[in-house]
Amino acid sequence: MPQSRLRLADEAVNGQIDLHCHSTASDGILSPEALVSRAKSAGVTLLALTDHDTVAGYAQARDAAEKAGIFLLPGIELTARWGRQVVHVVGLNVDPESAAIGGAIAERGRLRDARALEIAARLEKRGFSGAMAGARQHAGEGVIGRPHFARWLVEAGYLPDEAKAFKRYLGAGKTGDVSVDWPDMGTTVASIHAAGGAAVLAHPLKYGLTRMRLQSLLGEFQEAGGDAVEVVCGQQNPVQTREILALLERVSASRSGGRALRASLGSDFHQPDQPWRELGSVHLPADVEPVWALWRG
Ligand code: AMP
Ligand code: MN
Ligand code: MN
Ligand code: MN
Repeated sequence: MPQSRLRLADEAVNGQIDLHCHSTASDGILSPEALVSRAKSAGVTLLALTDHDTVAGYAQARDAAEKAGIFLLPGIELTARWGRQVVHVVGLNVDPESAAIGGAIAERGRLRDARALEIAARLEKRGFSGAMAGARQHAGEGVIGRPHFARWLVEAGYLPDEAKAFKRYLGAGKTGDVSVDWPDMGTTVASIHAAGGAAVLAHPLKYGLTRMRLQSLLGEFQEAGGDAVEVVCGQQNPVQTREILALLERVSASRSGGRALRASLGSDFHQPDQPWRELGSVHLPADVEPVWALWRG
């Protein structure tokens, strides 16, 4: 059985809350300690570290959070598949020691390593020699991902910035967009639950879906037992936030399966020079049921 979930005191939820960010354990630029210290400076009182497909940064972050006096939830952003669409499911307040989370991580580690070799082979064919070694160096001890290839392409002088690297070589439909049979969304929600956590559909507007498809995604996520949706992710205009809330209302009215989805939020912070996703810069509207209510009292 997973350990019981951490409970949250009043002080945890009375300041800035940020439930989605990355460290050097995956594709973030800051170490877990530096991340926590930056969160503290930004007035964050409740933080969840949600690295891609790993909890390796949690122990360091927890020690730093204890010293800084902020509440830290163990989290993870699991890569998953909804049909052919890749989706990200954040697990919050998971037991990082649980077999369920360990299994989910190990499976994705194998898939990521194999994908990295394929991405490197394709880049090599395009004349970018040394791609594997370069990306590995950027990943360090962390879980390897496309941003590490992007950073290497920039460092090697092939491209001016990471955004261009994605646009030309790594983004959807480009040579480095290797299709992977990630565990499906339902299995992923189940793994998070088996680890004692809450399953949150990450950044619903970032998948490039039509409103109809997005509504199906939200409905199926709810039926799969999903707990919450990121109603706010990064800097987001209020119209978008209302759109997501309207879709959630339609889903809870039309679907019988599952409980109504709660609201989560996070910056999706990766690095300091991106003010549009700075730690602690996100706010939920007042009239929603926040995911952290699950762990109060
Ligand atoms: P991966 O998990 O290895 O497939 O990489 C996905 C990560 O790449 C995301 O979490 C972002 O950090 C980053 N990313 C995705 N699309 C872009 C983009 N267009 N520009 C810059 N970074 C991106
Ligand atoms: Mn990322
Ligand atoms: Mn994501
Ligand atoms: Mn993320």
